[in-house]
Amino acid sequence: MKKIFITSLLMLATITGMAKERKEVHILSANDMHAAIECFPRLGYVADSLRALYPDLLILSAGDNRSGDPLNDMYEIPAYPMVALMNMVGFHATTLGNHEFDSNQYGLARLIDLSTFPTLCANTHPDPKFKLHLRPWHKFDVNGITVGIIGAVGLGQLGIPESHPQKMTDIKFSDPYESIKQYEFLRRECDVVVLLSHLGYKEDVEISAKLPWVDLIVGGHSHTQLKGGEMHNGILITQNTNRLKRVTHTTLVLEDGKVVRKTAENIEIRGGKNENKIIKEVVRYFSENPAFARVLAQATTPFSSYEELGCLMTDAYVAEGKAELSFQNAGGVRYSTHAAGAFTMSDVLKLDPFQNEAVELNITGKELTDMIIKCYDNDNQLMPYVGGMTAEYTLDPSTRKIKKLTLIGKDGKKLNMKRTYKVITNSYTSAICPTTRQDEGHSIGRITAELIIDYLEHQKQVSYQGRTCLKEIKK
Ligand SMILES: [Zn+2]
Repeated sequence: MKKIFITSLLMLATITGMAKERKEVHILSANDMHAAIECFPRLGYVADSLRALYPDLLILSAGDNRSGDPLNDMYEIPAYPMVALMNMVGFHATTLGNHEFDSNQYGLARLIDLSTFPTLCANTHPDPKFKLHLRPWHKFDVNGITVGIIGAVGLGQLGIPESHPQKMTDIKFSDPYESIKQYEFLRRECDVVVLLSHLGYKEDVEISAKLPWVDLIVGGHSHTQLKGGEMHNGILITQNTNRLKRVTHTTLVLEDGKVVRKTAENIEIRGGKNENKIIKEVVRYFSENPAFARVLAQATTPFSSYEELGCLMTDAYVAEGKAELSFQNAGGVRYSTHAAGAFTMSDVLKLDPFQNEAVELNITGKELTDMIIKCYDNDNQLMPYVGGMTAEYTLDPSTRKIKKLTLIGKDGKKLNMKRTYKVITNSYTSAICPTTRQDEGHSIGRITAELIIDYLEHQKQVSYQGRTCLKEIKK
């Protein structure tokens, strides 16, 4: 009898010794929401449903929460509606996207303080005077598992995130990889390490090769729609396209405290049926701002490309800025289609949401040509739209650099390289085009959106179907 008892005990010990402790971490992540407040009732419902199954669900944003809807961006506390809605959904952390800086240093500080979740960014170092309460990382206890999350923002051609440089004065930025690797100690202190990245898909894949101690990269910025997640160098990378069309549900399975399996699936947000009714009421409240519904002009034909809308903007700068010529960075034209019919205040503020000032430059044809080439290089190799002229250009097929640029005036003749022209652009475009020009330019005291609003009101009717201002000459 005694012998049987001992054998049973031994067997029990062996069995319990073999059984591994299995736990799961569930993460719901969004990126590049760009002020899509209309999607929050649905996002709230999805978060509620997952939380019912997984009470310790972590909800993360990979940045660019704002900039995309004036209802949010021009609220009396700019961009506060998104913060209020993210608080309601129960976000646990966000990183900084480049567009978070559109609120400027003090505006961003206020938004961070109004958030019930931390803003994580390891490579942003603001002057203390802004009281910008950023943290490089934060640890969360998820069902007894320690999850360490590090945030990082990508830097553009100028070595700063892609927003107006003036909104980042007295903030220093360090290389994302060099900054992230300072926090490798989190690998020893945490069961799971997540990088919340606003670097872009290509950069996430590159950095994954250098960060073998990270389990998961929740990415954003490039609006890359991945099918669930992708494994690169043993790290799961996730990202969705912009404005909350989809979010990602990631599951990490741990056995005895070690991650043994990582999977991710997309969840549709736009077009989904069930909604959180309380959040829907709050969105309705933020949406009923009558100032934005004013009709400025009738579009007699639809707009169907960025170029048609870019031409509308540059025409407005010439007409309302009383200039001969104008140009506008392509990345600043924020949508590509507009139906025929009413063109409202809200439409203009969505098209040109950044509140950049209109800048007048008195520069020669040569200086303008140099500026446009710099703008192309520093705006992700996108050709700026031009007004009062046409830009004919040839690209090097391998480097995509501009080989030749010819600016042709309204009279059909090439611009005179020595003559001085009065040119209007926006303050962002002039800032990203450093050249040796004589005139740095000066603000005319109005934002570019105001020029577009005045132009539409003066025109009463507009038609830009088929309008072009750029011509690529292929050889
Ligand atoms: Zn971004």
